[in-house]
Amino acid sequence: MHHFRYSGSDLHCESVDLAAVAKLYGTPTYVYSAATIADNVTRLQRGLAGLDAQICYAMKANSNIAVLRHFANLGCGFDLVSGGELRRVLVAGAEVKRSVFAGVGKTEAEIKLALENEIFSFHVESEPELVRINHVAGTLGVKAPIAIRINPDVDAHTHAKITTGKSDNKFGIPLKYAAAAYEAAAKYPNIHVKGVQMHIGSQLTDVSPFVEAVEKVAPFAAELKAKFGISYFSVGGGIGIVYRDALASGPQSWWDAQPEGKRPITPEAYGAALVPLLQPLGLKILLEPGRFMVGNAGVLVSRVEHLKRGAGKNFLIVDAAMNDLVRPAMYESFHEIVPLRRDTSRRALVADVVGPICESGDCFAKDRQLQEVGEGELIAFLSAGAYGYAMASRYNSRTMAAEVLVQGSKFELINSRESFEHLVAGEKVPAFLK
Ligand SMILES: *Cc1c(COP(=O)(O)O)cnc(C)c1O
Repeated sequence: MHHFRYSGSDLHCESVDLAAVAKLYGTPTYVYSAATIADNVTRLQRGLAGLDAQICYAMKANSNIAVLRHFANLGCGFDLVSGGELRRVLVAGAEVKRSVFAGVGKTEAEIKLALENEIFSFHVESEPELVRINHVAGTLGVKAPIAIRINPDVDAHTHAKITTGKSDNKFGIPLKYAAAAYEAAAKYPNIHVKGVQMHIGSQLTDVSPFVEAVEKVAPFAAELKAKFGISYFSVGGGIGIVYRDALASGPQSWWDAQPEGKRPITPEAYGAALVPLLQPLGLKILLEPGRFMVGNAGVLVSRVEHLKRGAGKNFLIVDAAMNDLVRPAMYESFHEIVPLRRDTSRRALVADVVGPICESGDCFAKDRQLQEVGEGELIAFLSAGAYGYAMASRYNSRTMAAEVLVQGSKFELINSRESFEHLVAGEKVPAFLK
């Protein structure tokens, strides 16, 4: 559920007319709904009632510092994967104490920074990593809290690039070797064995892989609690969102109308399935949702450059491109595309929606049916709040898009459009070419 809907003929985010945002800040621009994020946090927290649960928002999905501050205000910690992300948490004025540090290749400098800021825990993916964390903790004279990531070998039935819990992924340690890994970890003098972790993939639209994975790992978590006194179990992230029918999925009525068994995963269903499995453990439960928290809370607003009518094919060329939103090119993912001004008197148009970049891959949608729109008119790519701006690049020397946060009738620029001067600021011609 989210707060993007037409009010009259104009698409609004909460009470703000998106066309007004585009007029003020130009395009392409990402617009996020603070209320949608707050609702998602609240619903997930309620779904987990009965557990001692801590949400660590996976900030790689959207790491704008205003968004981070909003999550911190809502009581969330963060799941971070780099020193840069850690520093963003600090810049946002949030605490690192409620955050965990994941990723397969943490550097010594990153480990040091995390320890100095009293990270809640490191999520460790290999023995060499443990050696490194133990070493850095030793030089600082502290004990590093850790959990080992278990790979439960569960098929998440999601896109190959975002499935992580199968035994052939680079992530985690297989369950059969996990006991030995913990035995080894407990012997390091500067390591505090604090928890256990799993994460099976992203954009899971069904609860059954989560259930399967928790059922596999929970008995081991109980063993670890008895043996090493671990205090938490992180069940990872991965809760999927609605990409098709994204606009319709705003109101509760859409969800109620979905047939039993076909309803996309909800935080309520997720909680109902997992709480009974987790509660008996008596452990603190960490969750690391990224996409679910912000995906449907953001859109990318873009302007039509041209409608190019071809032989048997139309192309809608827009001012956003794969550098701004790479998901369609990278994951073949679907984003609903809607006009900012709805006009039911217009004809439908079937077109490939493409950006201006010189690559065939710069295509957001093939043969998409949408309301006819022409040069200068505005459209929105829905469900672009997660892995949108965060994965954007400067390919084709296109500067980074602007970002705006809406709350009620208020909106503010939270990241200005990058300037050309900034784009080239670090570059120079060496003396030997002059
Ligand atoms: C990416 C990631 C997440 C977040 O995944 P979502 O699908 O966005 O919820 C959580 N935990 C870990 C370890 C991750 O790598």
